Amino acid sequence: MNILTFDIEEWFHLLDHKSTRTAAEWGRYESRIHANMDRIFQLLADTNCRATFFCLGWVADQHPDVIRRIDAAGYEIATHSYAHQLAYEQTVTEFRDDLERSIKALQDVTGKPIRAYRAPGFSIKFLNRWVFPILVENGIEIDCSVFSARRAHGGDTAFGIGQPAIIDVDGYPLKEFPINTVPLLGQDMIFSGGGYFRLLPYPMIQRFTRQSPYVMTYFHPRDFDPAQPMIEDLSLTRKFKSYYGLKGCLPKLKRLLTDFEFIDVSEADRRIDWSSAVRKSWELTPTPV
Ligand SMILES: [Zn+2]
Repeated sequence: MNILTFDIEEWFHLLDHKSTRTAAEWGRYESRIHANMDRIFQLLADTNCRATFFCLGWVADQHPDVIRRIDAAGYEIATHSYAHQLAYEQTVTEFRDDLERSIKALQDVTGKPIRAYRAPGFSIKFLNRWVFPILVENGIEIDCSVFSARRAHGGDTAFGIGQPAIIDVDGYPLKEFPINTVPLLGQDMIFSGGGYFRLLPYPMIQRFTRQSPYVMTYFHPRDFDPAQPMIEDLSLTRKFKSYYGLKGCLPKLKRLLTDFEFIDVSEADRRIDWSSAVRKSWELTPTPV
């Protein structure tokens, strides 16, 4: 099962960096979301593919036409938070307020309930697993934030979830769709989104996809925008991660969507036999280090 998702944010929504951190900084940059969304819509039309869109509440307030267009095309809208902050840096109250605000902003545009969530930068870790009950309180049925590998922001090997699983939140079955990994040279390798996808050559991605019973992708409008300006004060490593492979990303993804069947999160939810899925308590027992 291969799932296609996009995180809908602007090119300048880079996490954890002083000149792109909050709305106060974002006002300095030009908007590029419309042209980038055009590329995504064209890609989906060309490949006859459906996807789930995890959208920022901030985008719904700034560019409601973008959200309306996704909804009018019949694609699934989910939330990616309101203000794109790392969840593990927020207090419980800040996290709850931001989540509620995002759901309201998106629902105000579409009039439809929001049932799925993805944290900015996959920033649910073992230490802030308290977010799971707050998701459930707010009507979220599906979470796509778990990343069972080490990475720059979110990601925590303590979860040990590499396939869709049930996270039991005090009796409520929250459905978890994690990012998948493949074993390579003793490491858990990620290949299905963002910088990892841009960096790897297509034959490798094709082989990993073929090998994987479950693939969860994640792309951003900026992944398909080679003409975007560069945020100048980023470190060299972050420049590489943020800007490498932008030109080849769209044709590479088009090839992947042509070679394999991809579905959205709702369709995946319908196809999974949840009664035989792994179940974990939201408090999660840590794995020994
Ligand atoms: Zn994001």
